[in-house]
Amino acid sequence: MLFELAYRGVEPAERVLMATNETRSSHGRDEVFGYLCRRCLKCCHHKNIQLNPYEVARLARNRGLTTSEFRAAWTDQRAGLVLRQTESGACVFLGNEGCTVHPDRPLVCRLYPLGRHVRADDNETFFHLEPHPHSRGTFTRSGTIGEFLASQDAPAFIEASDDYFRWLCAARRFVNQAGESEHFTAADAEAAIELLDMDTMIARHCAAPEIAESLDADARRALHLRFLYQQLHDERREGRSVAISVLAAAICLLGISLGVSGTSVGEALAANGPADQNSG
Ligand code: SF4
Repeated sequence: MLFELAYRGVEPAERVLMATNETRSSHGRDEVFGYLCRRCLKCCHHKNIQLNPYEVARLARNRGLTTSEFRAAWTDQRAGLVLRQTESGACVFLGNEGCTVHPDRPLVCRLYPLGRHVRADDNETFFHLEPHPHSRGTFTRSGTIGEFLASQDAPAFIEASDDYFRWLCAARRFVNQAGESEHFTAADAEAAIELLDMDTMIARHCAAPEIAESLDADARRALHLRFLYQQLHDERREGRSVAISVLAAAICLLGISLGVSGTSVGEALAANGPADQNSG
C-alpha cells in the first residue's frame, strides 16, 4: 500500500527546489547572476515537475478547469503531484514554440537554472544548477538573482510556497502534540489529497453563508490556507474534523511537493521516488 508508511515526528528542517542533485555554492538575492535562454526547450524534458496547491490552481485556471479536474486531466500522483510527460519525456505543456502555460508555469520553471533552498527559520539561498548537457542557454553576469526572480514573476509563487510550508510546519507541530499513531493508509492519503485540493476545500467551506468565494488566485490561496489552519484549530476546540492520520498524509504529500528534505518525508521518498522537485 503506497502510503502506509511510518511517519515519525520530526520538525521539517529545510526544503530545496531544484532541477538536479548537482549544486554549487550558495548565493543570496544580491549576488550577480543572469541567464540567457535561447529557447532550445531542452529543460522541459525528463523532469518531475511537482506541484503545490497554488501551482495547481494557477494551471487549472489557465486551462479553464477546477483544480480537481486539472489533477485528473494533467497530473499523476506519484511521489507528490507531478505534471504528466509525453512518451518522449517532454512536459505535457511543452508546445512547438515553448511553454503553453507560460503565465502560470510552476515555480521550479521560473527558478531554472537556479535551485532555492529554504530553512525552517526562513533563511533562503540559491544554487546555480547544471543545465541540460545540450542546452544552448548560457549563464551571464547581467544582473542579480533578485532581478532574475522578478523578471520571471517568481515572487508570488515563492510567497505561496512559503505560506504552504508554514502551514506544514504548524501541522507538523500539531500532529506531534497529538501524540497519536501517525501511520496512514491509502484512504487517508485520498482524504489528504482532497484537503490539499484548493477548489474542493473552498467549495466545501464556502457553503457557510458568510464566506464569499473569490475568483482571484491569491485570495483563494489565502482562503485555502485559512481553512487548512482551521483543521488544526477545529480538532482542538470541538472534536476532530480531520483525523491525525489524514493530517500526517497531508504533511507527507505537501512536503514532497514543496521539496521538504531530511525529515519524516524521507521515508516516503525512499520508498516512492526521488526527493527533488525538478525544474523546466
Ligand atoms: S516551463 Fe515548465 S510547465 Fe512549461 S513546458 Fe516547460 S516544464 Fe512544462
